[in-house]
Amino acid sequence: MSTENTLLCAKTCTLEELNNLFIELTEKNCNQHCKQCYINFPLNKKVKDFISIDKIKEAIKQTENEKINCIYLTGAEPMTHPDFNSILRLCLKRSNVCICTNGSFINEKKARFLKKVENESDYSIIFQLPLNHYNEIKNDDIRSRGSFRQVLHAVKNLNKYDFYIILCITNSYKESKKQIVFELKNIFKNLDIIIDDKNIKINECWEKTVNIEKTEENNEKLDCQNSRILTTKGIYTCPFLANDYRGRMGTDFSNYSKKVQLETDFCITCIKNKEQMFAIDKNIF
Ligand code: SF4
Repeated sequence: MSTENTLLCAKTCTLEELNNLFIELTEKNCNQHCKQCYINFPLNKKVKDFISIDKIKEAIKQTENEKINCIYLTGAEPMTHPDFNSILRLCLKRSNVCICTNGSFINEKKARFLKKVENESDYSIIFQLPLNHYNEIKNDDIRSRGSFRQVLHAVKNLNKYDFYIILCITNSYKESKKQIVFELKNIFKNLDIIIDDKNIKINECWEKTVNIEKTEENNEKLDCQNSRILTTKGIYTCPFLANDYRGRMGTDFSNYSKKVQLETDFCITCIKNKEQMFAIDKNIF
């Protein structure tokens, strides 16, 4: 075992409170296959690996005594789920819901419909939309052609209906955070959309090479401290380790593990970021 691994194995993280419940609606179904996506997409694009509503109902029931602030609907692309609207309504009965989407399904009509759904609930819907750069060509070079405009289009429609939006930037080009925020604010200002610092979340991209230096930083704000993810296969620590045996926490929420060993390259990225990679600031609710 290398020195790096020895050091990593020594670190653990214990769930303090389950505040963020991630639900993976599909593991591999996405209408876009971005070049640098961490998902190993099957050759067959029509994979139908959707989670069942009953499984979600069961998880919500089993976590009824937990202090959940937000349920996150994730995927691959969660809005490809055939029962997406019913799942959204179901989750909105329990807590705020954050939809982590590529934005491709959000046209004006959909945004209007989602506002109606939100208005029927006591909770809010928040959107997390992904970008890799503020320059269209650089962004699309990493994601897929047209994805930049797609996010702009989605933001425009969601903004029209006063949804809270978080632009989730994976800093693939390793630019300064200040520069990214400045450029994004300008782009949206030109579209008459006010984007605040709170609407921009920047994550450094994960690296495969383990570096001891990075592991020595404090792990004060990790998703695994306050979150778990439900998938068709069971409970896992976080979206990075969904369906990965190293992140497996149990079969369901009736009996799941609270302790996780920080042993993967993903954990290095989390520790290095010094902020939760997936959960959003609970103060926005
Ligand atoms: S990848 Fe991050 S959130 Fe997941 S277990 Fe590792 S440190 Fe925790």
